[in-house]
Amino acid sequence: MKKIHKDIIWILLIIIVGTIYFTIIGCEANNLTTPNKVKEVVITIDDAPIQNTFDMLKVLKKHNVQATFFCVGEYIEKDELHLADSIAKYHILANHTYSHLHLSEKSLFENYDKEILYNQIIIDSINLLYSKPLNNYFRAPYSAILDCQQDTLMMRGFKMCWWDCASEDWDPSISVKEIVTHNMDYIRSNDKTILLFHLSNNSVAALDSMLTIFEIENIKIKNLDY
Ligand SMILES: [Zn+2]
Repeated sequence: MKKIHKDIIWILLIIIVGTIYFTIIGCEANNLTTPNKVKEVVITIDDAPIQNTFDMLKVLKKHNVQATFFCVGEYIEKDELHLADSIAKYHILANHTYSHLHLSEKSLFENYDKEILYNQIIIDSINLLYSKPLNNYFRAPYSAILDCQQDTLMMRGFKMCWWDCASEDWDPSISVKEIVTHNMDYIRSNDKTILLFHLSNNSVAALDSMLTIFEIENIKIKNLDY
């Protein structure tokens, strides 16, 4: 009886030690940070320029940081040229198709001229107006792009721009606090983060809070291609 009792204690001990060991090893494997390295974040904002652009620009100005705005040409042409102008003065305008097209459901061949090339001409013309360097950044709406479409765009000189952390700020059921917590958890556990934001009311408030945290925690803002 005593022997059985001893065996059970040993088994329990092995389970406890094993659990602690694998928890520590597991944490280390998931931790992508380098000790003492300053964290770096690239801010990218999709579906510009729409309402809230001015508020977002105010927040970026308040914290003196630059962002890359992925723009939809149709929005610019409708009545938001002045917003695109305001973005171009201080930030980077980039290509997000002309009509926010779900590329993987369409033929790139049939849509290339208008969705990609014409949109790039709109963006280049605004960048040129403000003597900004031209860029070839492209982000596919909904992340929906086939490998063969990506290959074609890269062969034509476009640079595919993905992200590491999506804010989920398009979902009104997710609160500002939840967005900030979700993003900061990711940023604190990685050396570099390309952050995806949009232009909802929550986006503006969440980014404002996060930029204040960045200042406190000495998290640096970088541009794409750094
Ligand atoms: Zn989009």
